[in-house]
Amino acid sequence: MNFIPYGKQFIQQDDIDAVVETLQSDFLTTGPKVKEFEDTLSSYCGAKYVVAVSNGTAALHLASLVLLNKGDKVLTTVNSFLATSNSILYVDAKPLFIDIAQDGNIDLDLCEEELKKDRSIKAIYAVAFSGNMIDQERLKYLKETYGVVILEDCAHAIGAEYNGIKAGSCTNSDCSIFSFHPVKHLTTAEGGAITTNSKEIYERLLMLRAHGMLKTPEMKPWEYEMRELGFNYRITDVQCALGISQLKKLPKFIDRRVQIAKNYDEAFKDTVVRPLYTYDGRSSYHLYVVKVDFSKLNISKADLFNKMRENSIGLQLHYIPINKQPYYRSLGYGEEHTPVMDNYYEECFSLPIYSLLSDAEQTYVIKKLFEILNG
Ligand SMILES: *Cc1c(COP(=O)(O)O)cnc(C)c1O
Repeated sequence: MNFIPYGKQFIQQDDIDAVVETLQSDFLTTGPKVKEFEDTLSSYCGAKYVVAVSNGTAALHLASLVLLNKGDKVLTTVNSFLATSNSILYVDAKPLFIDIAQDGNIDLDLCEEELKKDRSIKAIYAVAFSGNMIDQERLKYLKETYGVVILEDCAHAIGAEYNGIKAGSCTNSDCSIFSFHPVKHLTTAEGGAITTNSKEIYERLLMLRAHGMLKTPEMKPWEYEMRELGFNYRITDVQCALGISQLKKLPKFIDRRVQIAKNYDEAFKDTVVRPLYTYDGRSSYHLYVVKVDFSKLNISKADLFNKMRENSIGLQLHYIPINKQPYYRSLGYGEEHTPVMDNYYEECFSLPIYSLLSDAEQTYVIKKLFEILNG
């Protein structure tokens, strides 16, 4: 059996052809493919404006530069990849870590309690964890009632939908971001994007992506102006050619992930393995997370990880609470009251899910999992 990781890319001949064609064209970076990728993404997720950048972290950084000011307080989840809250620190703003709800997403009721207590809180950075959309009615309500800025980290959620609202559409948020790292649904090797419906935000993002430079038709042919301190967060035409090709197949990728999730749901019914949530049409399943109460079994989580690995299966854990990382502790975080996350962290792990995972491989994963859990 070949090694089965928790996630991986699916590259086919048409993807390779698209990349080769671009390598042979006049443009390697910032040519027609970047705009084409942005336009395709815009029509796919329904946001007016898209800015493609070098990776998802750069997308978060640029969004934070536009949405936040130094010292702003931002409610964010303990259950995400480091980049979500790191981007708040990049702009000298202050993350306030909030516990999760039972589905692994930030607890929006707790967010409201904080907003009631402190009207100076500027923003909420919410993550559609594992591909499960953030409750859109609640987001809308919080935005309208408290006037908070909202960023949706949709790195897990491209293709997800909630009552007709698509991930990245920014229907109830100011900005959303995507990542196109190879473990995500579609890849550009490295890559990311910011979506927004605000022209003003869009224009600042474009400037910040390229050194804070502005060039307008009124200027002399050689002129450009640097208006603020920006970065080089450009994505290349080669990467975008891959992205355009992958995006065409995204609906198929998601159908396959959903099928895998349904198979797992079925296999774990009435067993010690409890899915974080079962299929309800809202998730695009970047991850398939389960919980097991190890205190009731004769095996520890570390032993389970090791024994699965001996059987060529890679489990993962999403995520270690961000606020408990040494760097965050050095800033004074780590002792927030997060009982749901604490329990979740004890019990959770992620099983392999990706388009290329075959039925036979999935059956093997399930069989080995039960064999090892039952010792
Ligand atoms: C992957 C990921 C990112 C960062 O994306 P990169 O492209 O790796 O920089 C940000 N947030 C979440 C939730 C992610 O999973």
